[in-house]
Amino acid sequence: MSRNLLTLTIGKQKSIALIAHDAKKADLMEWCEEHKDILSKHFLCGTGTTARMITDKTGLPVKGYNSGPLGGDQQVGAKIVEGRIDFVIFFSDPLTAAPHDPDVKALLRIAQVYDIPIANNRATADFLITSSLMNEEYDHDVIDFQRNVAERANTL
Ligand code: PGA
Repeated sequence: MSRNLLTLTIGKQKSIALIAHDAKKADLMEWCEEHKDILSKHFLCGTGTTARMITDKTGLPVKGYNSGPLGGDQQVGAKIVEGRIDFVIFFSDPLTAAPHDPDVKALLRIAQVYDIPIANNRATADFLITSSLMNEEYDHDVIDFQRNVAERANTL
């Protein structure tokens, strides 16, 4: 393994963020109901409205952050950076312009940087949630951010 990488472990019990744009909320509610048994084994959180609706419709406990347009996506991104969210289901709407599009892009980018499994549509979500890795620990290599800062501070 390269010395610039750090091995992190996604635990058996995952911390899953659930987000749906308005046109996709009904889909996500249905998906959560369908996979309720699996979801109930993990820690759930999400953007404000999505989280509230999932809890109301399925009874699953979902910690709610702010609503997406009010910074919820950024909160989810920040938790990924802190290592407190390790799995994302994000039913985004590809057909409607959103005021918080930069936040959405930032979340997608940070999930990529930290090698976080992220589903942007139902088929991907189905494949992810039924993966045998949902019941296992998963080691993955991410950039060693402390070393990265140290090297940058020394060389720039
Ligand atoms: P919401 O936010 O769950 O508060 O509707 C989702 C989003 O639009 O990103």
